[in-house]
Amino acid sequence: MSLSYFSPAAAAFILVWFFAVGACVGSFVYCALERSSEGRGFIGGRSECRSCGRKLSPRDLVPVLSYIFLRGKCRYCGEKIGAGSFAAEAVFGAAYLIIAAACGLSLAALENIVLFTLLLSASVSDLRTLTVPDILLTSPFAAVMTFWAIAPPNDIAGRLAFSLIFGAAIYLCALLTGKVLGQPALGEADIACFVLGGMMLGAKKSLLMLFLCSVFGLAEAAVLRIGRRKPFAFVPAITAAALIAALFGDAITDRVFIIYQNFGGW
Ligand SMILES: [Zn+2]
Repeated sequence: MSLSYFSPAAAAFILVWFFAVGACVGSFVYCALERSSEGRGFIGGRSECRSCGRKLSPRDLVPVLSYIFLRGKCRYCGEKIGAGSFAAEAVFGAAYLIIAAACGLSLAALENIVLFTLLLSASVSDLRTLTVPDILLTSPFAAVMTFWAIAPPNDIAGRLAFSLIFGAAIYLCALLTGKVLGQPALGEADIACFVLGGMMLGAKKSLLMLFLCSVFGLAEAAVLRIGRRKPFAFVPAITAAALIAALFGDAITDRVFIIYQNFGGW
């Protein structure tokens, strides 16, 4: 059901609610990945300031808002708090809000929220440690299959065939580029994301995703590496590209096609 069926106030409430839920999920995901990468369990245990060790109270742990009101500093010792958790909360919240705005209250919204929660979690992990846990690479495939079982798209065979060819083509390109550069161009996680994108999006929107993630990847490399030859996280670029392609791919590719026609097919 599109949000245009609701009064403006109700639609605004729904969007704020989606942002809040996304921010809470982002907070949990960041905390879970941070603690598990340090070998700590993430169920139970109170959060504490990394500088002074004081246990944090609930008012210090409100996603997004606490960081803004505390201006990124610990309430007790004034030491700066890392912005990673805040960034994860804001990005997850924004993603949930955009999905709700584009898909309304629908099965498509649920599907996108599940898939992009997993892909954004993989992105956070890739940014933090340049690795993605296996569970975050396998579970999105299980999620796609589950949604296909609930509401099968009419081009399942085409999507499966395309995703395999798409993944294989990108793998070969990465292999060749890697040989030329003398270092791996893409990791396993990146290839898995492309195959997943092919299944989720189909051929037309996957090619849009490939174009967008190349642009995002180059921008990210320019910002993060500044000329240094060092591996960088590519999963966030793929995830951002897949989100745009999933939500706005039809509108964008239709417009490109109209421009193409107006130029007499070049
Ligand atoms: Zn402190």
